[in-house]
This record gives sequence, C-alpha cells and structure tokens, in this order.
Amino acid sequence: MTKWVYSFGSGKADGKADMKELLGGKGANLAEMSSLGLPVPPGFTISTEVCTAYYDNDRNYPADLAGQVDEAVAQIEEIVGMRFGDTANPLLVSVRSGARASMPGMMDTVLNLGLNDETVAGLAKVSGDERFAFDSYRRFIQMYSDVVLEVDHHFFEEILELHKEDNGLILDTELSADDWKGVIEQYKKIVQEEYGQPFPQDPREQLWGAVSAVFGSWMNARATTYRKLNNIPAAWGTAVNVQAMVFGNMGDDCATGVAFTRNPSTGENLFYGEYLINAQGEDVVAGIRTPQNLTIQGKEEQSSDLPAMEEVMPEVFKQLDDVRHILEQHYRDMQDIEFTVQSGKLFMLQTRAGKRTTAAALQIAVDMVAEGLISESEAVMRVEPAALDQLLHPTLDPKAERNVIGRGLPASPGAASGQIVFSADEAEKMAHAGKSVILCRIETSPEDIHGMHAAKGILTSRGGMTSHAAVVARGMGRPCVSGAGELRIDYKNGTIIVRGQVLKAGDILTIDGSTGEVMIGEIPTIQPEMSGNFGKLMEWADAIRTMKVRTNAETPNDCRTARSFGAEGIGLCRTEHMFFDADRIVAVREMILSDSEEDRRKALAKILPMQRDDFVEIFKIMAGLPVTIRLLDPPLHEFLPHGEAEMQEVADAAGVPIEKLHARAAKMSESNPMLGHRGCRLGISYPEIYEMQARAIFEATARVAKEEGQTVRPEVMIPLVGMKKELEILKALVDRVAKEVMAAEGVEMTYLVGTMIELPRAALRAGDIAEEAEFFSFGTNDLTQTTFGLSRDDAGNFLGAYEQRGIIEQDPFISLDQEGVGELVEIAVERGRKTRSDLKLGICGEHGGDPASIHFCQRTGLDYVSCSPFRVPIARLAAAQAAIKN
Ligand code: PEP
Ligand code: MG
Repeated sequence: MTKWVYSFGSGKADGKADMKELLGGKGANLAEMSSLGLPVPPGFTISTEVCTAYYDNDRNYPADLAGQVDEAVAQIEEIVGMRFGDTANPLLVSVRSGARASMPGMMDTVLNLGLNDETVAGLAKVSGDERFAFDSYRRFIQMYSDVVLEVDHHFFEEILELHKEDNGLILDTELSADDWKGVIEQYKKIVQEEYGQPFPQDPREQLWGAVSAVFGSWMNARATTYRKLNNIPAAWGTAVNVQAMVFGNMGDDCATGVAFTRNPSTGENLFYGEYLINAQGEDVVAGIRTPQNLTIQGKEEQSSDLPAMEEVMPEVFKQLDDVRHILEQHYRDMQDIEFTVQSGKLFMLQTRAGKRTTAAALQIAVDMVAEGLISESEAVMRVEPAALDQLLHPTLDPKAERNVIGRGLPASPGAASGQIVFSADEAEKMAHAGKSVILCRIETSPEDIHGMHAAKGILTSRGGMTSHAAVVARGMGRPCVSGAGELRIDYKNGTIIVRGQVLKAGDILTIDGSTGEVMIGEIPTIQPEMSGNFGKLMEWADAIRTMKVRTNAETPNDCRTARSFGAEGIGLCRTEHMFFDADRIVAVREMILSDSEEDRRKALAKILPMQRDDFVEIFKIMAGLPVTIRLLDPPLHEFLPHGEAEMQEVADAAGVPIEKLHARAAKMSESNPMLGHRGCRLGISYPEIYEMQARAIFEATARVAKEEGQTVRPEVMIPLVGMKKELEILKALVDRVAKEVMAAEGVEMTYLVGTMIELPRAALRAGDIAEEAEFFSFGTNDLTQTTFGLSRDDAGNFLGAYEQRGIIEQDPFISLDQEGVGELVEIAVERGRKTRSDLKLGICGEHGGDPASIHFCQRTGLDYVSCSPFRVPIARLAAAQAAIKN
C-alpha cells in the first residue's frame, strides 16, 4: 500500500524536513517543527505523489487515499479533543498548498473549513463569541465559493458593501453577529444563483472540494507563469496541508504575524517581523491594516507609534524569540516564520529558509561562519550565483540632486528610474518596446508578477516589508519601495497625487529601494563597490574552485571591468568588434570590397597599426594574464556599407568607381551566411587577413615586452575549424609570422595556437585536430546552433513554444544542452586529451557564465570558463559550488 498521507502534531510526525519532494516545503517543515516539540497545530500532508497521480489519472484520486485521509482526520480529532462536523465543539481546519519550492500566493487556500449552519452555533458557544463565529462562517463561505465553487469574489464584496451602506456602517469591525447572519443568508442565496446548488453543508464534502481546488490550482495561470519564471518543473506537483485551525482573531489576546529570524534586507542578526492583534493570517500580508513591529528596536527604527509585540505580549514574545533561536540552531539558516497567538497561546504555522536580498545572503553567510554555525564551504553554497547580479545594480549618485516627493519602506534595494505605468500589462508592453518603467500600484498581487518582472522598479502606496510587492521584488532583485502612503495612486485617472503635485502615466520617477525615497525625474547612478562580505565570500570561493575564470572582452573598458570583478585572463577577444570602430571601418570595407590580394594588402596595411595598438592596450591592462585572441570570424558581408553614402565613402578611400564595389558586394551575398564564408574559411581564402592580425598580435607582444617589461603569452585562436588540415595551414601561417616578428624585433616570445570547437565535426575529430591545436575553446554558441541545426539569431521565435510544450526545459542558447551538445563536448575533451595530455581546455560561449553549464564544465574537466565581464563574479561563485559538489 502506498502511503499518501503524512500526519504531524503533538511532538510527533511521519515526515521530516528533508522530505520536501514528497511533502512540499510547508508540509516537511511542519513535520520537522512538530518533531522538535514546537507548538504546531496538528494536521496532515497529502503528498505531491497524489498531485501527480491526480493529473495522470484524469483528475481522479488513488482508491486508497480516502481511507488514509479519514484516519488522519481522526488523529487530529484525538489530539485536539474536538470532532470534525460536531455541532457542539466542531474541529475546523485550514487547507493549504505547499510545493517543493515556495510559490507565495500562487495557489489556493481555504480557511475555517468545517463550518456550516449547525457547527457555526457550536463555535459561537465554545468561543463565547457569536460575532466571531458568524464572521468566520461568512469568511469561509466567501473563500470557499471563490476558490472551490468559482463564484467570483466581487459578488460577495458587493453584498457586504451594500449591507454596510444600508445600515450606515463603515468598517467590517462595526458589524454585529446579526449583521453577519444577514450577510450570510445573502451569500448563500448568491451561491445558489451562481453555482446552481446550495452551499455545501457536509464538512467531508467541503474538505474534498478544497483539496481538489488546491491540487487544481497547481495548473492555474498564475502558478504556471510563476513556475516558468522560476524554472520550477510542472512535474513536481504540490502537496496539500490540512491542519487544525487556530484563531488569531478571537479577541485582543490573539494575534497573527510573520517574521524573519534575521533582517532579510540587510542580513543583520536581529529578530525582524510584523504582527497584528486580533487578525487572521492573510490580513498581515494583504496590507489592509498596517502591521506593527515585533520588537521595540524595530519599532524605534521605523519611528512607528504602534506598540511592539515585545511590549504588548511580553511572555508570548519571549516564547517566540526562543523558537527563533531553536529554529536557527536546528536549520542553521535564516528562517521565515508564520505564527498565530490564540488566547495567549503561541502556535507555529510555518518555517522555511527565508528569502533574502543578496546583500543579506552574504551578511548572513559570513556571520554564520563567524558564529560557528556553518563552514566556509557551506557559506559558499548559501549564495545563489545568479543573484550576485543584484549587487551589481547601480545605486543613486549621492552627489546628485534629488527631488524627493514621497517616502515609503525600503523594501528591496537598488535604485531605478523609469516612466510611470499603472498596470502589469502596460509595464510588460512598454518594456518590450524598450522603455524603462516603474510599476506603480496601490498594492500588488500574484496577478502582477509579469509586470513586476518587466519593470525596472516597483512602487506601492500600501503594504509593509512583508507585503506581496516587497517579498516578490526582493526575490526578483527588483528595487522596490512599498507602502508609500502619501501617494494617492488613482488607476482610473492614471495619476499619482502627492504633496499637491499631480504625476501622470509616462512621467519619469526614480525610486531608491535602499532608502524608500521616491523622486521626480531621472537621477544618475553609480556602480557599487564590491568589498566587505562580497570580498570575503569570493575569497573563500576562489580558494575552493579549481577552474579558472576568464572573460570575453575586447574593449579596454570591458577588460578593466572584468579585472575588477576578478577575471583571470581573457578567454575570447573577438577581433571583429574592433573592426567596427569609426576610425577604421572605411579601411575594413575597402579591404573587403577589394578584388585582388594586392588591394586587400593595401587596405590591411592601414588597419595593422590600429589593430596593434588595440592589443598593446589590452595586454597592458591584463598585465601578464593569459589573453586569447580570436582571428576574424564573421561573414564579411556583415561589414558591408549600409546605403549609398557609406558606399561612396569607401569608393573614395579606395579610389575605385562605386559600380565596381556594388558588383563585388552583390557577389558576396550568401544564402546561409552563418554556415558560409566565415571563420577559418576566410583565413584559407584570404590568408593576408590572418597574417595582418597575427602580425599585430606579435608586434604588440614585442612592444609590451620592450616598453613595459611585461611578458605576454598570447593565445592565437582560429575559429570554426572542422578539419585538421585547415588548422595545419593556418597554424603554419601564424608560426611563420611569429618567426618574422621575433627576428625583426629581436625578442623571443612564447605563444600558443589553438582552435575553437564549434562544429560537430571538430568535436568528433578532436583527436587529430589536437595534433595541431595547443588548446581548445568550446564555442558553444555555434556548437549549439550547428548541433541542433538551429539558427541562433532566429530560434527565439519558436523556442518559447518548445518550452511551453515541454519539448525543451530551457533555451539551449542560455543553458547548455548537456545531453546533446554536452556529449559532443565530452567526446572532444576525451579525444583531444588522448592526443595531447596537456591540451588546455576552456569554454567561451555564453554558457561560460551560466551556473548550470559551469557545473557541467567542472564535471567534464575543463580548465577554465570565460564569460562577459558582469558575469565574472557569478562564474567564480558557481565554479566554487561546482568544485564542492563534484
Ligand atoms: C561561440 O560560437 O560560442 C563563440 C563564442 O563565438 P561567437 O559567439 O562569436 O560566434
Ligand atoms: Mg562562434
């Protein structure tokens, strides 16, 4: 018999924390907390395997599930001494989703389940609070109808609003038990009308309805989008958690709250959280009431007048603070917790590793090493490499003038400027059109995810540090200011009114998510210094990793940036980019459009000194680190003049009639340029081009040796080789030029000649190519293109559909296709090293900066990865993690 249901409660549990795949994060941690003896309301988890089985069987459950659920319900009843459906003392439960990875707010939840026309009376009696009981019942009807019966929530909101209006009431809290009874009657009527059947009274039927709705919500549009953005496979499924209800809304000795065991923005080791007296869980995150701080220090830091929990409920607070320490010692990580206080008694409803900004992740990792909680290599594993990107975000130039028009909470760090937009759809549309936008919302909800993703920054007028906007923005690394209460955001008129000013959609705003300031206009930004915690973590990472990290760079600026980020050399210097500079493009065009070697050499002679100067500058910046220079690669027509004026310019420079150039350009047109006259094929047909480039490289090497006393060991790389003979011919050419330059300059130089592996044939014939090549650099952009037979320029048009249909998991141009392209890389490594055991191996395709691909490179035994300058820190950390894992 398969075990589908896992119970927890009363100091025991069937599951534990490392069973997230089966129980989801929430269920696994509820089980763990229960085993730790923490106060967890009893309950059970229906496993993710049920979700998978449910979808595999046309939304039908395994036959033996119902029996296991009945047993688990009975177990709860025994622990709490209440019965499900009992009219005198009814057990109520919550039904919540819980996937392996946290998906905040994406799936459905039902609370207060088990209430009906009879049990509500029982609840009124045992709680001694009739108003509370009927308020709970109406909340349940509303939530259940929305989630399970699909009766839209606006019907219920309308009824409530009308009732208040008719009775001269303003706040929900002003409604009496009798008011709620009246509202409930109308709620039931609308359910009958819209759903066609009465609101279900049988608690078991309610339970199964809610369970199916939660499983069903795994496939809703919100959850599907969220999974896509966060690379969560649909096959994981969600678990469902059914748990005895505890009430934070039964009076002033009740409360509910959320907290982080350390500050999630800065990482500071301070208890950090919010709570609300007399409220139910969702009230805190919904941002409808302003939450209060847990600690006195937190309250003072935010200059809040509302009393802290530490003052109002000192004993429960002390207990909660103890739980905080127990959880941190146990999990050895910062936790994000949810709790409820019912009549002065603390209950823990959730714990999980807390989402944090990258700055906080670094702070926490470094602190926990100092506290002896984790080792240095664990600290290295704690920071998501891709998230380092957040640290590279610009901050506002402190010297710049700021026209501050409002202030909110510093919800997610970094500064951003952009045009005001009011809806997620508009944000996405404008971002696609290349505009920078700030998404301005009263508050955000899971429906806004795509717009938050598209926006440069997020601004809300309502909600705290744990509001949806704040949590999601931090996770995404988007700057966010939340709860800027002075701003009156008016969707209907498309305006923001603040301090007497009216801002409209399209106006430029700047937000600073580190200070909470909102400013008019665009404000200059500066790049962050990377020192302190970042430096320390990188030091640990560098000590652990075995692969080198180089950069793909060809401009002096990029080279300097890459070095400041810790690049250990250049893995790819694409010389063609240098050809586009304004001072040489005409000479380059002249060279391309010449139809004799003699004319070509004339043009190349003009380019040589410029190319040599480029290399001198790069060699100086790289100060003796290895530099791999790739000889000309792209199809020549990419350099052709655009339009008549440019053509005339070239004709004048070359002293030939324009018609001649037109004829030559026409002859150069190719059907498949990417598979055409490019790469080493250019070197074979026009050896003088590669000759000039080799000469520029070696003359620069000689000059730097003489002028700077610096030894450069250039690595000359031949692109798009498929056959050994190609490399043999071109290597001989490079060697000859090297000899000539050494003789002329009177200096000795050492250098390497190698090739890119970017064609399947090159990978397969790596054994004989390595007889000529002293190094291989995997050009996985082209290798992906040629292995799939997929144009790297156009594949974006349909790869989206491939991802949606599950044909591919990820765009293979972003993350290496380890099965297919990866196998070719493995073959080339094995065959190449067999011929030449000291063959130097690297990767310089875009995948060199992608953490998953970097893990592959480590497993495959590459010596280095090379990536764009801004990804160098990411690659350093990912390489360390890969070394730890392998
Ligand atoms: C490659 O093909 O992976 C590569 C690095 O070269 P390019 O992108 O310049 O073709
Ligand atoms: Mg290439």
